[in-house]
Amino acid sequence: MDQLEVKKPLIAGNWKMNLNHLEAIAVTQKLSYSLEDKDFDAVDVAIIPPFTDIRSVQTLVDGDRLRLLYGAQDISPEKSGAYTGDISALMLSKLGCTFVLVGHSERRAHHGESDELINRKLRATFSMDMVPILCIGEDLAIRESGEHVQYVLTQLRNALKGIHKPDLKKVVIAYEPIWAIGTGRTATPEDAEEVCSAIRRELIKIGTEEISHNARILYGGSVKSGNIVDIMREPSIDGALVGGASLEADEFARICKFHRVI
Ligand code: PEP
Repeated sequence: MDQLEVKKPLIAGNWKMNLNHLEAIAVTQKLSYSLEDKDFDAVDVAIIPPFTDIRSVQTLVDGDRLRLLYGAQDISPEKSGAYTGDISALMLSKLGCTFVLVGHSERRAHHGESDELINRKLRATFSMDMVPILCIGEDLAIRESGEHVQYVLTQLRNALKGIHKPDLKKVVIAYEPIWAIGTGRTATPEDAEEVCSAIRRELIKIGTEEISHNARILYGGSVKSGNIVDIMREPSIDGALVGGASLEADEFARICKFHRVI
């Protein structure tokens, strides 16, 4: 029965604006050789490099038949045309991307991305059969006001407004409290679980019990090899979105091996 399927955890490394395409080749090779088949059997491992690296990663993954997945950090909501600097869903799909990050807090902050735009980017991602990793999370002021759960659920509802159930089935959600991103300050596993379990309950209302049960919900925010095991022990957390610690192949591989000790 679908509902009882065991979900495969996902560990995704968001490189942000780091590593040129030559460095990307070196890190991808090292990461792949640091992991064994038993790791890839237990965990989906993805890297999310800058656009300029994706073709090099694709060539390596296809040529060496690596078991790594990869994706893009952003996507245009438009199909094609006069949108200088933007990258379309079709372009990313042709590059073999499995995943697209949508609504990362850095894009919301630096590029003023609204929930409405994020909704359109999700639709663009689905249109080419790629899997969005939808990022949601509160800043410190909202956390301290105690309104964080409601705030995150509103982001979730707005982003997923009007998305049809067959597409909802595919979405990955990353809960990333902004105050924990790149700060070295991690949410406690209990803090992360509080919000991730609320997201899962909300997915029942937005979709169905089955969609909620099968959705992969990730935690992101200063994840390292030293805290991943405690985070992954939480029942509503199915993986992690990792920033800084994904730039170094050895450390990222250690994070991906969390399952060996759980
Ligand atoms: C991120 O950018 O999504 C992230 C979680 O970054 P970091 O792990 O560096 O906090």
